[in-house]
Amino acid sequence: MRKVGFFRSIHLKFVLIYVLLIALAMQIIGVYFVRVLEETLVENFTTSIIDRLGPLEYSVIEELDADIQGNRTEEDGPLANTIEVLLGGLDSDDIDEVRVVDTRSRIIGAWSADDNNEPIIGQRLTAGNLVQEALDGVGAGIEDKPNQTFVDQNDPDLGRIWVVTSPLISNVNGEVIGAIYIESRVEKVYAQMNDINSILAGGTAISLVITAVLGVLLAQTITRPISEMRKQALAMSKGNFSRKVKVYGYDEIGQLAITFNNLTKRLQEAQATTEGERRKLSSVLSFMTDGVIATDRRGRVILINDPAAGLLNVSRETVLSQSITEVLGVEEEFTFDDLLNQQDSVILNFSTPARPYVLRANFSIIQKETGFVNGLIAVLHDITEQEKIDAERREFVANVSHELRTPLTTMRSYLEALAEGAWEDKEIAPQFLNVTQTETERMIRLVNDLLQLSKMDSRDYRLNKDWVNFIDFFQRIIDRFEMGRSQNVTFKTKLPNELLYVEIDTDKMTQVLDNIISNALKYSPDGGQLRFKVEKKEKEKELVVSVADQGMGIPRENVKNIFERFYRVDKARTRQLGGTGLGLAIAKEMITAHGGRIWASSVEGRGTTIYFTLPYDPANEDEWS
Ligand code: ADP
Repeated sequence: MRKVGFFRSIHLKFVLIYVLLIALAMQIIGVYFVRVLEETLVENFTTSIIDRLGPLEYSVIEELDADIQGNRTEEDGPLANTIEVLLGGLDSDDIDEVRVVDTRSRIIGAWSADDNNEPIIGQRLTAGNLVQEALDGVGAGIEDKPNQTFVDQNDPDLGRIWVVTSPLISNVNGEVIGAIYIESRVEKVYAQMNDINSILAGGTAISLVITAVLGVLLAQTITRPISEMRKQALAMSKGNFSRKVKVYGYDEIGQLAITFNNLTKRLQEAQATTEGERRKLSSVLSFMTDGVIATDRRGRVILINDPAAGLLNVSRETVLSQSITEVLGVEEEFTFDDLLNQQDSVILNFSTPARPYVLRANFSIIQKETGFVNGLIAVLHDITEQEKIDAERREFVANVSHELRTPLTTMRSYLEALAEGAWEDKEIAPQFLNVTQTETERMIRLVNDLLQLSKMDSRDYRLNKDWVNFIDFFQRIIDRFEMGRSQNVTFKTKLPNELLYVEIDTDKMTQVLDNIISNALKYSPDGGQLRFKVEKKEKEKELVVSVADQGMGIPRENVKNIFERFYRVDKARTRQLGGTGLGLAIAKEMITAHGGRIWASSVEGRGTTIYFTLPYDPANEDEWS
């Protein structure tokens, strides 16, 4: 997760809000306070001057009245001097200039704070309308003089001045006999205001700095637990539930931290349960022999167990998120929706001419309670073996029916011929009966062979084993065939001159050797030779028995098939020779049951050798001998 930038942080927001609030408050207070203070100060200033104006006016009026009435003496000196002395009595830091004018606005007396700036007596005083207004009687006796004004001199050093005029009314006749003009330096008051403003601004700045620092500290008390919770949430998303948020207090944030810790605990428990379930499911999936594939609702593979990957011969990584129809190779026959509605199992035939391979797939839908389809589960089962067994069974039944029908058809036609009158023919009748007898015998042999095979196929088939000297046993069988042979065939034996004891079921082994030797005789040409051999392989602890003939042989490509049930190289010929096609199949079953192997080698036109092995234990040899 990205770190929160400074400009987006709560820190900055807190500090900004506080600072803005304080600034706003200070602004409102400052504006109101400064205005009121300024008004008060200016008023105090003007009032103090106006208050002092009253007594001055009185003295000046007396002097002017005396002058008008001619009551002034030489001793009094010039009027201007007298007035200047009176005006000087005001002597205040605030007052700049004081002038007294007669009714024609001519200066008749003046006082100035600046001695170099004394106006010339007798000059006209032109100070706007104020002097004229006073001469017209405005502002007489009124405490709050209306004829006053503030003049801003365009000189930053001097600043603003306050000017006030007042009429001088004769005590004798009550007429206006002049006016008094006062200029005072009000800038001082504004300078004072500026000082106060600076103090206020300084105070505001200091309080803003303190507020900002406090804001940061306060924000930290909120952001620290929040950033700890954020860190824990990050750790939790990575699967680490061991952390705990520190609880700093029991306010709302503290409560949040406690709730957060509880949530962590619950999540940890839930995760442990889910993990346990997941492990159970995954071990079930990997230990089951059937393949399982699960998809999402769009049919893309989200899970495939090892058996499924093995059955389909794909790697898990490549099929994940592929469409299930493609993975199963049924995209041409089925869409994903078809599979969702597929009630019966689907047979997936991956057989090649060299290798049969058939899978059966059953489908079930993953559905929510609302009926919403969430995905599909396919269970795969390898049915190659079952299919093979089924095919073999079908072939076997067909073979048996065919084998039985052939002699039966032959017999029926001969019997029909007999029934139609051939029985009366003394020459033909015995021949026909002979054929039906041969065919019947062949059928009996076939049925016996089938019974034999069926017995061996059944599970509780047991051999009735005895310890026998195999050389004696083999020799006796060879002798029997030699004595009973009708053809011109010579026998040659090559047997070890020792006692070789093996544990065998003698009846079954006799049957095996009968089958092999009778085949060898059957296919031997006139004047041929049969060679019998037993070899002792001490290393492999087995005897290798072989019966070789000099017959027509078997084509190379058919040699491996001769041990299959009903297999015949040349069907017509062997049937003629009375074979059932089951002899070597029975021999193979019996040798296998004895723990041996059987095989053939043959050169077409030169002869065939049938080999089989029998396990033998050399340790027993001494015991028996
Ligand atoms: P059958 O009863 O027909 O002889 P077998 O199972 O004994 O049945 O033999 C299967 C087939 O193997 C025979 O039909 C024959 O074609 C071939 N075969 C078996 N033994 C020999 C042999 N010694 N020489 C040539 N062909 C043989």
